[in-house]
Amino acid sequence: MARGQTRVSIAALKQEITIAGGGLAGLSLAAALRRHEVPVVVLEAGIYPRHRVCGEFISGVTGETLAALGIANLFEDALRHRSLGWHESGRLIHRDHFKDPALGISRYCLDARLKDHLEALGGTVRTETRARPEQRDGFVWTAGRRPRNGQWLGLKAHVRDLPMTADLEMHAGTNGYAGLAAVEDGWTNVCGLFRIDRSLPARGADLLPAYLDAGGNRELATALRNGEWRAGSFSAVAGFELGRQTPLPSLLALGDAESMIPPFTGNGMSMAFQAAECAVGPLVAWSRGGQSWQDAANSVRAAVRRKFKRRLAAAALLHPVLLNACGRTLLQNLAAAHLLPFQPMLTLIR
Ligand SMILES: Cc1cc2nc3c(=O)[nH]c(=O)nc-3n(C[C@H](O)[C@H](O)[C@H](O)COP(=O)(O)OP(=O)(O)OC[C@H]3O[C@@H](n4cnc5c(N)ncnc54)[C@H](O)[C@@H]3O)c2cc1C
Repeated sequence: MARGQTRVSIAALKQEITIAGGGLAGLSLAAALRRHEVPVVVLEAGIYPRHRVCGEFISGVTGETLAALGIANLFEDALRHRSLGWHESGRLIHRDHFKDPALGISRYCLDARLKDHLEALGGTVRTETRARPEQRDGFVWTAGRRPRNGQWLGLKAHVRDLPMTADLEMHAGTNGYAGLAAVEDGWTNVCGLFRIDRSLPARGADLLPAYLDAGGNRELATALRNGEWRAGSFSAVAGFELGRQTPLPSLLALGDAESMIPPFTGNGMSMAFQAAECAVGPLVAWSRGGQSWQDAANSVRAAVRRKFKRRLAAAALLHPVLLNACGRTLLQNLAAAHLLPFQPMLTLIR
């Protein structure tokens, strides 16, 4: 038998994997599976490229994880962020640094890159295709956070010419917080998470400065109003809850679809990549017929749980501290006494 024919018949023996949700978890998993010649189809409700609510600050993922997924080269031109400035209601209270630099790249750019990369590897991406949860072998759910009647509002926009004194600026306020970090082409991503306040008389893009104003971040709100906004970059997402997303127990869910870590950690994107890394081995084994779907799914779930248990628990404890008056006073006092334990906190949520 000719060598080419042997290859074709081996490829044909592999079972296809369908991935519902073409965000970071879905696309990076699909790309990694293609490196093992697993047939993959990604079903994505939206289109590429598109702006998405996200801080676009990727912290905590290692070069090894990106290399294992075969996507490290997609980050070669990403910005490297090292310094942090922490502001409380407009006042700088703490400066610090990231020992391992975080990556700065917009979702507009990154998601489209991942999709092109996957297609170049022979994967199929069906855009504008909304999937439904299916209880069948070979079906992976990476469709992101679950829509719920939650209390949070996420807002973001790319703005130019903001006065920045650190690579990442965190601006906490009485109603939430915003993070500022540079992405490509001289734009700064401004992304906030706020408690929904229906009394605010603002609409559309003005919501972002309005929420900052209402939380006590007036200078930043004014700088935003006076800055140049990237066309089409304003995005909003409302109605979600943080933490476990309780997907159907029989589904293999990864990324935000499984658990959503509070955004201040800057770690959700890293977790999407790490979850994909956990899933590759068992899913390749299933595709080759070496493992039942149930066993493969269980071993992925166990690996993900082990990897994320501590940081999810730590983030769930820290998140309310950032948002309630007593917690914020405590942080300000610690910062004033030069005792803010930023590095130990960072270790806990990584
Ligand atoms: C305000 C805010 C700020 C954040 N800032 C940061 C940050 O700075 N750093 C960080 O690391 N993380 C941050 N995150 C978290 C980060 O955005 C997520 O953790 C990350 O996007 C998770 O990737 P994912 O692939 O699981 O989900 P997503 O990236 O959300 O992808 C899910 C995909 O599924 C698609 N989809 C949804 N429903 C369906 C369906 N039924 N059928 C088909 N497709 C569907 C969606 O269109 C989407 O493309 C932030 C989140 C918020 C809300």
